[in-house]
Amino acid sequence: MQGRILTKRILFAEGDGVGPEVVDAARRVIDAGVEKAYRGKRRVEWEEVYIGSKAMSRFGNRIPDISVRRIKEAGMLFKGPVETPVGSGFRSINVFLREALDLYANIRPVKHLDGVPSPLADPKSVDMVIFRENTDDLYTGIEWQYKSAGAAKLRKIVHKELGVELEGDAGLGIKQISKAKTVRITKAAIDYAIMNKRKSITIMHKGNIMKYTEGAFREWAYETAAKFYKGKVVTEEEVLKRHNGVTPKGRVLIKDRIADNLLQQIILKPGAYDIILAPNVNGDYISDAAGALVGNIGVLGSIDAGDSGAMFEPVHGTAPKYAGMNVANPMGAISAGKLMLEYIGWGDAGRIVWKAVEKAIKARKVTRDLASGLHVMPLGTSEFADAVVDAIKG
Ligand code: NAP
Repeated sequence: MQGRILTKRILFAEGDGVGPEVVDAARRVIDAGVEKAYRGKRRVEWEEVYIGSKAMSRFGNRIPDISVRRIKEAGMLFKGPVETPVGSGFRSINVFLREALDLYANIRPVKHLDGVPSPLADPKSVDMVIFRENTDDLYTGIEWQYKSAGAAKLRKIVHKELGVELEGDAGLGIKQISKAKTVRITKAAIDYAIMNKRKSITIMHKGNIMKYTEGAFREWAYETAAKFYKGKVVTEEEVLKRHNGVTPKGRVLIKDRIADNLLQQIILKPGAYDIILAPNVNGDYISDAAGALVGNIGVLGSIDAGDSGAMFEPVHGTAPKYAGMNVANPMGAISAGKLMLEYIGWGDAGRIVWKAVEKAIKARKVTRDLASGLHVMPLGTSEFADAVVDAIKG
């Protein structure tokens, strides 16, 4: 007689472009990992929710209420990338979901896998985790088209109330970085660093120019570290002045770098950077740059985490030119799946999944994006998933 099977219902959304292909590949790999880890005693029960173009064709809405309700009820979603048009059109569904569920921490681990081609001579030292604030900054999308009534009104108010003359033909946007949101993302990053015994946190900002937004982000992050983590953190300045340049054992080093400098630093000295704490826009930029160091963004997975929910997705977008071609790399989606398994407490399955990915890469089984660097014939998205499933079973 078969024993009781523990079933975990997980909501998934395929997304747009290459989304359906990478999500399908990742789901197959996750199922195989769970089967292997728990010998059939645990199982994922997948429930599809519709967002993006699939929702548009079914419900006439890219983010239907019924999907939002189900996602809010479940408090968790595994998703593919969704399209957001440039310059006009509808607002980002991702941003909507992150705001609706208050998923304020976008956590993106960036670690080199042995065998993955990299532009660096020594990619082994790349082991960073990007903590990107997810609900603040320019992503709040408060903006006015240059010839709109809103822009005209704002120009008038700013001129009358603040004495500032704005260009008459400029599109306008408001950048806001709030103290409360900076404090909570900083706490999330420091808690993570302490729990995972990470070495340092680098605050990424352009505070020399945007003093009261990005400069304030830096200031509030340092303030939070000093106020809530006494004895657990140490600043770079303190290390130099009081500890002869050596970080005291067991403390997390807090430092900051100006954004443009940090973008070169992670290429030239990747080993010197561990956790990167960034406002929304900087966090987006540095993620793709960091992705390039470990292959490309196609290999990165991420969590959008809040206090009562989480969303798991690859870092990459819809890569529209590859949609439907079975060539996209599903490693980012698989990595998101591994993070999700850890989140639900099924870390054994997550480890099995990732070991199998490593095994496939070592055997030089890779998709097109990585194949040319290894001078091997590429596998399709689906065939790469087969190779990982075989490695799990083997
Ligand atoms: P993208 O879709 O991530 O693609 C940029 C490039 O990265 C691709 O052309 C490809 O490079 C490479 N790439 C991305 N994913 C890959 C994969 N799985 N396997 C292999 N290579 C991969 O970024 P984008 O072109 O800037 O954005 C396209 C759309 O996606 C936009 O509508 C954007 O808003 C949306 N987007 C959504 C999310 C999300 O839902 N989380 C995130 C980012 C962007 P090569 O051309 O060099 O092969």
